[in-house]
Amino acid sequence: MSWDDFAKNAKDAADWGATYHKTIRDRPVRAQTSPGDIAAQLDTTPPEDGTELAAIMADFERIVMPGITHWQHPRFFAYFNSNAAPASVLAEFLTAIIAPQCMLWQTSPAATEMETRMMDWLRHGLGLPDAYQGVIQDSASSATLAAVLTMRERALNWTGNIEGLSGQPTLRIYCSDQVHSSIDRAIWVAGIGQDNLVKIRTTGDLRHMDPLDLEAAIAEDKQAGRIPAGIIAATGATGMGACDDLQSVAAVAKEHGIYTHLDAAWAGTAMICPEFRTLWEGADQFDSIVFNPHKWLGAQFDCAAHFLRDPDQLRQTLAIRPEYLKTHGAQDVTDYSEWSIPLGRRFRALKLWFLMRHYGMEGLRARIRNHVTWSQALCDRLSAEPDFEIVTPPILSLWTFKVAGASDDDTQRLVDAINDDGRIYLTQTLVDGQKVIRFTAGQFDCEERDFDTAFDTITEIARR
Ligand SMILES: *Cc1c(COP(=O)(O)O)cnc(C)c1O
Repeated sequence: MSWDDFAKNAKDAADWGATYHKTIRDRPVRAQTSPGDIAAQLDTTPPEDGTELAAIMADFERIVMPGITHWQHPRFFAYFNSNAAPASVLAEFLTAIIAPQCMLWQTSPAATEMETRMMDWLRHGLGLPDAYQGVIQDSASSATLAAVLTMRERALNWTGNIEGLSGQPTLRIYCSDQVHSSIDRAIWVAGIGQDNLVKIRTTGDLRHMDPLDLEAAIAEDKQAGRIPAGIIAATGATGMGACDDLQSVAAVAKEHGIYTHLDAAWAGTAMICPEFRTLWEGADQFDSIVFNPHKWLGAQFDCAAHFLRDPDQLRQTLAIRPEYLKTHGAQDVTDYSEWSIPLGRRFRALKLWFLMRHYGMEGLRARIRNHVTWSQALCDRLSAEPDFEIVTPPILSLWTFKVAGASDDDTQRLVDAINDDGRIYLTQTLVDGQKVIRFTAGQFDCEERDFDTAFDTITEIARR
């Protein structure tokens, strides 16, 4: 393809994108295909001869689009949103064109220096102290794994990477029974073992881990000669939005000299609004904090913001400096590949720059506030209906409900029927062992009327 052809095709793709978004409400939110439908339309071997792009585009519409679940649909109320604000899409497009590899400062100084600045902007936006430095990771899972590895190395006096884990004392990590599965996986991958992830029972409206139970578990482990290596707390856990009492967790950690990591992958974005910061009071005492601008803030996937009080501990855990990666003649530069598990790094800061500059923090805050207000209003409306029961009250824009008296099977049937209908998209979760329906809002361009449609769809289908 010549670059002139590229320019023409890119303009066509941009037009296609604008039409897609302007008419997206006409599409069912969740893909309505069955397993294998798409694969059956794809050749089993690659073509020997090239094809004109127009034909590929036509096949894209015909084959691919029916199998897409529309994450940018304003009535996507499932999982957590993964937004792609148009300004950030443009930045991603430019990044795709330049395709820089941003592992070291010298492999693209602009990427490194902008990453430092954008993490400063985000830290400022969230109201965190200046003491934090930041790095952009590909995902919250990676940030959590990096934090768990730091916990491990710190607790083993930096011998784990060198000597391996056999023959080492048993390490223990603590978290609540509400944490995301990425915490479990980080424990597996770090070689600490599921049995050494101690899940503390949660209590109260916000489902926080009981600090007395946490304290007791640590004391018992110390007694038995095991080493408490880390505590992982959550602000806005995935199931129902559980928020730990960070002040008390930090106090326990401080008393025992334990490294702390906070998973605020979803809810972290809401902290750009000062009125929501009571949910994570004490966050400023954590060693490591992750939140995903690719969820609620509007930065195109992927983009996970990872803040560290002392990045040296992370670097001591992950940095390797072979000769071919050394930058000679430039002192005091940051090589972010020493802060993350993959060596290669995309230029993720650019989309944050476009996003925050174009909408402004006030524009981003206005969206978050609308989502929370509209979601809570819908919850109130549904709770006024005699046949519905709110199971867990809203934490920000997330709450759970069911039809009063419904069995787990009935609840699953209702979720499936709603998603087959296509107007909205919801997912289920377990609360205290019973199946419930999750509602969460956060699509970048959703409007109040989308919540009216949600009310109509839910009540109509449940009563049918
Ligand atoms: C989404 C989510 C994660 C995982 O995020 P990735 O970036 O996909 O790894 C972890 N924790 C919580 C609370 C989440 O909501």
